[in-house]
Amino acid sequence: MSMNYDPKALFKIGYGLYVVTCNDSKKDNGLIVNTVIQVTSTPVRVAVTINKENYSHGVIRKTGMMNVNCLTEEAPFKVFEAFGFQSGRDVDKFADCVPLRSENGLAVLPRYINAMMSLKVEQYVDLGTHGMFICSVTEASVLSDAPSMTYAYYHSKVKPKPQTEKKKGYVCKICGYIHEGDELPEDFVCPICKHGAADFEEIK
Ligand code: FE
Repeated sequence: MSMNYDPKALFKIGYGLYVVTCNDSKKDNGLIVNTVIQVTSTPVRVAVTINKENYSHGVIRKTGMMNVNCLTEEAPFKVFEAFGFQSGRDVDKFADCVPLRSENGLAVLPRYINAMMSLKVEQYVDLGTHGMFICSVTEASVLSDAPSMTYAYYHSKVKPKPQTEKKKGYVCKICGYIHEGDELPEDFVCPICKHGAADFEEIK
């Protein structure tokens, strides 16, 4: 690695936040991603990258379809808790939410989104830990004029401020969970959001 390698440079890349919905033929499922990007315009192709450990990865691999729900700045933290901090393997993420339906039959969030699009998988790129789905768009709607939720907005305005005063330990940069103690094991996994030790910082 070059001496001129500052990993913080990568944090300057801007992202949005999305709920990607799919269905395993038994129930609706959804997860939070920041990895939706339009990659070409003629024809339109949208790429969505998903960690292979997420239940949705296998479901989309099998079914070849998903919906992208574009979150707005109005989305409260509970949306991130519901779709981001638990697994569709264990829970029904739509237990407390009656979804709308797109033409492909998949769930569309009834609130907190400004647009939706239905995607059909055209290509799959194996990225090791993640899979990238390159998709055509079969349906697309604008639902409101509310501004889109960015990753930066989530970190500054939505995520609860952790109460780190007088505490000694490490705080999760993703969800604010505090691990009290002198050391954070390398293989530590946040009990709330399941992110690893790399996403923790020492309380100073
Ligand atoms: Fe966390």
